[in-house]
Amino acid sequence: MSTEPGGPEAVPTSRAVRSGIRFDHVSVRYGDLTVLDALDLTVEPGEVLALLGPSGSGKTTALRAVAGFVRPSGGRVLIGGQDVTDLPPHRRGIGMVVQQYALFPHLRVDQNVAFGLKAQRSPRAGIPGRVAEALEMTGMAGYARRYPRELSGGQQQRVAIARALAIRPGVLLLDEPLSALDAQLRSGMLAELARLHRELPDVSILYVTHDQIEALTLADRIAVMDKARLQDCGTPQDLYRRPRTEFTASFVGSAN
Ligand code: ADP
Repeated sequence: MSTEPGGPEAVPTSRAVRSGIRFDHVSVRYGDLTVLDALDLTVEPGEVLALLGPSGSGKTTALRAVAGFVRPSGGRVLIGGQDVTDLPPHRRGIGMVVQQYALFPHLRVDQNVAFGLKAQRSPRAGIPGRVAEALEMTGMAGYARRYPRELSGGQQQRVAIARALAIRPGVLLLDEPLSALDAQLRSGMLAELARLHRELPDVSILYVTHDQIEALTLADRIAVMDKARLQDCGTPQDLYRRPRTEFTASFVGSAN
């Protein structure tokens, strides 16, 4: 295998690597406020796991702890079996997409997608190929030289997804990626994400949402959060048929 950018200790980012995520008793506190309470949870390699719960339940905090933007007060985060709790975000082999796209307005689409590769100090010669591949995967190949303001919201979000995929992450973190889109675009993008998941069988996806339909449609398993705690976790069918708590039953809608 060729040497990956970022030095010998960097998390490998080749598509062939099956990463997986493990929260090992992860807590996050701000002063007296416990925002994440001893979360134990595993996202298997190649799995889509939805973190589902109401606003303020700690979902984004959990995702940001994997990304490296939030430091746990206790516990460990592992990616691909490696403890990454002390690694900076760009060394974790993750791609991340948030609700508000966060594209650089003064950069073209291709430059936006290349940005993460440059930040990772990816070999220059390989960058155009990686950018083209990522734009192809998200159906944005024809828009490389446009600026974000020339694109619709849905197209901007595709570019944000392309930027995340360009680094060939082992782990993809999606934080309410469809919330800013109107209902019609949302269902189209949901189908697109399902297709991407099929095309990337080794990439683990952590998908934060408050939307039951998104979770039920896309996720292999759903982890239900409320009040900083994991309430339940299982396949959509499990949760629907055998909710472990009343909260799950009321939140996912239940057969009981
Ligand atoms: P969710 O994604 O489920 O909406 P969050 O993880 O964003 O929930 O937030 C959980 C709780 O943590 C909220 O009550 C929020 O106000 C609080 N919180 C998040 N970040 C901070 C911070 N940096 N400082 C203080 N409180 C925070």
